[in-house]
Parts: sequence; C-alpha cells; structure tokens
Amino acid sequence: MDTSEIKSLEQARREFSTRVKCEKHLVAMRWPDGVTCPKCGEKHVYWLKNQRLWECAACKHHFSVTSGTIFHRSKIDLPRWFVAIWLMCHSPKGISAKQIERELGVCYETAWYLAKRIRKAMKHDIFENKLCGIVEADIGVIKTDGGQSTHGGRIAPSTNVLGMVSRDSGALQMQILQTLDTMEIVRVCQKNFGTVRRIYTDAARSFNRMWMLGSSMPVTHARQWTNGEAHTNYVENAWSLLKRGLVGQFHHVSAKLLQSYLDEFSFRYSHRREKGQMMDLVLASC
Ligand SMILES: [Zn+2]
Repeated sequence: MDTSEIKSLEQARREFSTRVKCEKHLVAMRWPDGVTCPKCGEKHVYWLKNQRLWECAACKHHFSVTSGTIFHRSKIDLPRWFVAIWLMCHSPKGISAKQIERELGVCYETAWYLAKRIRKAMKHDIFENKLCGIVEADIGVIKTDGGQSTHGGRIAPSTNVLGMVSRDSGALQMQILQTLDTMEIVRVCQKNFGTVRRIYTDAARSFNRMWMLGSSMPVTHARQWTNGEAHTNYVENAWSLLKRGLVGQFHHVSAKLLQSYLDEFSFRYSHRREKGQMMDLVLASC
C-alpha cells in the first residue's frame, strides 16, 4: 500500500482498519531493506510466530515491529495511531487535540499525548533535513500564552523565532531564539545549514554577521519588497501559515511547547511538495 494514494480520512480508516494491516505497513516503512535487529543491526532474524516477535540470530535480542518507536507499549491501538498521523500530516494549518479527540473517539488527554508523540517523530525527520543552496532567513515574533504581569494584569508575551527556508528543496526550519544577538543567529543557522550558496535576509541588525556563513544579501523592506532573486517571500509565507494555524487551531500555545509546534509546521511545510509521502516519512522516523 502506498499512502500517497490515500485521499481522504475515510480511506485512511479503511486502509489501516486493523492491527495486522498497520503492522504490515510499519514493517515496510521501518525496514525497507528487510527487518534488521534494532540493537546490533544484524539482518539475520527469526520470526517467532507465537510471540509475534523477531529474534536476532547474532545477539538473541527479541523485538517487535513497534520496539523503539513512539507506539511501543502504547495502550492505544495502531489503527488509531495511524489515523492520528494521517490527520496531522494532512491538516496544513495543524489540528487541535480537541479535534483528534472527536475523530478518534478517545479522551482529550489521549489525543494530546498522541499529538505530542507524533510531533516528536516529525522533529526527528526535519532534524535530518539540512538547508542547502539558496536560503532565506527571517525573524518572526510569535505570540505565546499570556502570563501574569507584576501588576496582576494579563500580559501577552512573545517569542522570537528564526525561520530558515531553502528555496532549492523547499525545506523549512524554525528555531526559538533566546536573544537577538548576531552570534546567536549565526550559531542557530550554522546548526541548520548544509552547503549554502547564498543567504537572503532582511536588513535587521541581528543579521549583521551572516557573512560568516557565506554570501549574504540583506533586502531593505522599507525600500523594496523584492529585487529579482533578492527577497524573503518563502519565509514570509511560512510565517503567515504558522500564524494562521496557531490562532485558528491551537488558540494559544505556551512558550514552553512552542518549539514542538514549530517542528510540526516545519515538517509539513518542508514536505508540502511530496504531500502523499508525509505519513510514511513519520512512520519511518517514529
Ligand atoms: Zn541483534
């Protein structure tokens, strides 16, 4: 089964209606070249039919299809997990735990837990995705959950986030910034950049040291939005999608959880050109 052929929630429910169907698909995604021992990497393994486990011929380790994954020892059945993954991959602006609760018929805490673990698998995937070629970087200010001010009133704190997009691959990374210091920006970019040909940013002072990372070109927005190739439109698009999602789906996100939401959005944005494969990418990284 190729998940790119699944076009609707109903179809996803049908394709992954039983544990056996889900397990079969998970085996294919986890081990495209044949089942391998997760402990020592040995390819020679025995299937222990009664226990529904494999035994490694080399180290005798017993493992199941879910060992070492986000599904391991979960009380939630695999069909529900799979539908939750499908929903999170196919909701461009994200999906709230409340809606997952309704779609799966589970309690809110369970829905919240599922979403949290699925975000973890998405993060794992985007971590491998280095940004190469022509890259745009921009600082966004994201409103996070309000706290209590010293005068007793509510405050709406905000968090600075660095957004980075590769125009070549379409991949996005978003990272919370502790400060707007130029060296902090350089450090975060360094972590996420691969081989970069050119970097476009706006003229903010925080980007003053981007030359350290390669050929960089600031775009002065006050004077011009785009100047041929010199623009930050891709990253601006990512901000607007993120902001609409955070407001529309999640209403308020705490500063503490913001990074995991950023990872979820980055995952979907990065793979938007290969939409059908998103679910398999999560399964391969889970
Ligand atoms: Zn082994």
